[in-house]
Amino acid sequence: MYFLIGVIVLILFILILYLVIRFRIRRFLNQFGFSGMNIKDIVEEARLEDEEIPKSLASMESIYLKQIHKDFPELSVEEMKKKAEIIIMDCYQAISKKSVGSLKGKAKAFVEEKIQEFADKPIAFQNFKIHNTVLSKYRKESGIVVLTFSTAFEYYLEIDGSNKKIQDRVKIDFLSVWDFSKCSSAHSISIHCPNCGSPVSSLQGNHCDYCGSVLLKDFGKVFICNDIVQY
Ligand SMILES: [Zn+2]
Repeated sequence: MYFLIGVIVLILFILILYLVIRFRIRRFLNQFGFSGMNIKDIVEEARLEDEEIPKSLASMESIYLKQIHKDFPELSVEEMKKKAEIIIMDCYQAISKKSVGSLKGKAKAFVEEKIQEFADKPIAFQNFKIHNTVLSKYRKESGIVVLTFSTAFEYYLEIDGSNKKIQDRVKIDFLSVWDFSKCSSAHSISIHCPNCGSPVSSLQGNHCDYCGSVLLKDFGKVFICNDIVQY
């Protein structure tokens, strides 16, 4: 008899516990706007958002454009955007080929790092599509000027027999030395060798410490890709 009562109490306890937990989970989901959705819907929603919605970019063009035109009347920001997009496409093509090809500097370093990441797995980026490129930063310091562009794009990554749609974005820095006489070693801008991508400690020295290429020959004439990062 006592045993039977014990079993009934236990069943009631488990039932109440189940109802309380279910109520709490529903209340929690309602708070975040998931009412009426089950866990499968939520996972599917997250997957769709991950694959279908382009990564957001913060454009600062309205803030910097006037200053850039004043400092560099000849410079076309739209041309620079195209240049950034070409570098990105070249980099991803090089990664799928597992060869840096003719890439130099930080673009080459970026590709080398990715090739290492994918190791010996064959990969391909299919249906590569660029969504948008914006100017996100403009810096001028100690005779050095840097324009930063952000680009959002998508592709299907073919790896290990699976094909997954991915939304991606990168930031590209273009650097130019507009006044060598103002260059000092005390600046917050990190400079990379246009040939090998290694950090350059000082522009006063003429050669890259790592690959020995002549620095002044490249800097100062055009804007060179100084950094490329996924973020
Ligand atoms: Zn170098």
